[in-house]
Amino acid sequence: MNYGFETRCIHGNGTDEKTHSYGSVAVPIYQAATFAHPGIGQSTGYDYTRESNPTRTELEHTMSALEGAVDTVACANGMAAVGLCLELFDRGDHILCTDDLYGGSVRMFESVGGKRGLEFSYVDTADADLVEAGIRENTKALYIETPSNPTMRVTDLRKMKEIADKHDLKIIVDNTFLSPLFQRPIELGADLVIHSGTKFLGGHNDTLAGFLCSADEETAKKIRYIYKTVGSCLAPFDSYLILRGIKTLSVRLRAQQDNAIKIANWLKGHEKVKQVYYVGLKEHPGYEVNASQASGFGSMISFKVDSEATARKLLERVKLIAYAESLGGVESLITYPMLQTHGDLPVEVREKLGITEDFLRLSVGIENADDLIADLEQALA
Ligand code: PLP
Repeated sequence: MNYGFETRCIHGNGTDEKTHSYGSVAVPIYQAATFAHPGIGQSTGYDYTRESNPTRTELEHTMSALEGAVDTVACANGMAAVGLCLELFDRGDHILCTDDLYGGSVRMFESVGGKRGLEFSYVDTADADLVEAGIRENTKALYIETPSNPTMRVTDLRKMKEIADKHDLKIIVDNTFLSPLFQRPIELGADLVIHSGTKFLGGHNDTLAGFLCSADEETAKKIRYIYKTVGSCLAPFDSYLILRGIKTLSVRLRAQQDNAIKIANWLKGHEKVKQVYYVGLKEHPGYEVNASQASGFGSMISFKVDSEATARKLLERVKLIAYAESLGGVESLITYPMLQTHGDLPVEVREKLGITEDFLRLSVGIENADDLIADLEQALA
């Protein structure tokens, strides 16, 4: 049944009667490590929770229905999903990445990936010519974040698909910042979609999760095999919490976006704010491309203030907005990327990207927008 997006958030792609035992409207938490076999060589469909679990399966089906994937694996957190994805590649393979990625992904590539003999290089994927120029003989994939974290650059996914087809590359998109409500990379030609489910999907800053969604059966089969082997799985209770979060994804994210538009416009007019990076502003260099491939702009805003001292004071003075490292939840959070999310990047890389001491990242929640603005105003005063 081809339900609308909001319906799929609530019911997945049609409910699995067996998962909803006794007519339970909510999916039960199957807090079981193992499942008894009805007979020798027989299975109820579930054998051992590292491999699969009914609560987690419902979540995975829901995510596949939202991203248009053939299969999704739910992982313990976003980094577990990124690590799992690397297992698809062999020693000597090269992956060309957006230069402005979540810092933890770069740390994973350079430490774990490098040790496994994988090669990574980084270019501004918003510029398709740089992507073409960065392709090597051993390049196997493009790894993209759009909008990027934290400088909000936008990559044209349709152009990436043309390049990938020409050079026989896989396209991997970390879709954490927009969520499938606003952007569905598989529909635009991506092979794999990654999420930190901790963020907009969970939505309440209370649970870690990650997803790896596959566009084709062959890749999905390989991932399932690695998944049960390395043990990346999400626990049943956390699966339940993320399922519950996803039910309100569309209402939450639309409310967060409405707030973000108001706050981005307010920040633009503040004398201590030098630059605002929000893809929902018409003057953002990626506005048109983002609007052509996504149905919304999300609620992530980065901005530069007039000095390091102002940035530090703001972080210390905010009352309603928490100074904390995460994003996407109903509570607004402010982050200092230089010290937090991107603290492990070499200084010269950070500075080249513009992640300087005056640069802040705001994840806008669903509080009253005027209250959030008043909090920023008093913190900047
Ligand atoms: N991808 C992006 C874009 C992120 O922002 C993050 C975390 O901040 C991750 C991946 C990693 O996710 P997690 O923190 O759930 O491991």
